[in-house]
Amino acid sequence: MTNTIKTEEELKKELTPEEYHVLCEQGTEAPFSGKYWNTSESGMYQCKVCGQILFPSDAKMDSTKGPAGLRGWPSFDQALPGAVEYRDDNNLGMKRTEVICSKCKSHLGHIFEDETKTGQHFCINSCALDFQKNNGK
Ligand SMILES: [Zn+2]
Repeated sequence: MTNTIKTEEELKKELTPEEYHVLCEQGTEAPFSGKYWNTSESGMYQCKVCGQILFPSDAKMDSTKGPAGLRGWPSFDQALPGAVEYRDDNNLGMKRTEVICSKCKSHLGHIFEDETKTGQHFCINSCALDFQKNNGK
């Protein structure tokens, strides 16, 4: 999938090899390894590539709980309206739904059905995100 706002060359220069693998090659970081999997600060999570705001910290869930296969990545029960798009992903012999940034089309993670208040469980890679703390409290 081609990024819609940056060239491959720019992306390779700006991202670490791991970030490039996740955002541009639909990779997945190791669980419990990313910097945001267990954070609970108040603020906004945005796309690493284009900066679009994707998930508010209010929607973040405890990633030590929930289905075993989804633990260890930043998890959210909803995205901001219009911030993400979905694509079928049949890689790895599994039928999953891929979550991408609606602006630059970078890969972010996957979405699953779960017993959350919205019925949705976004399982997102830390390295696909940047975090902006709320100013003023
Ligand atoms: Zn983006």
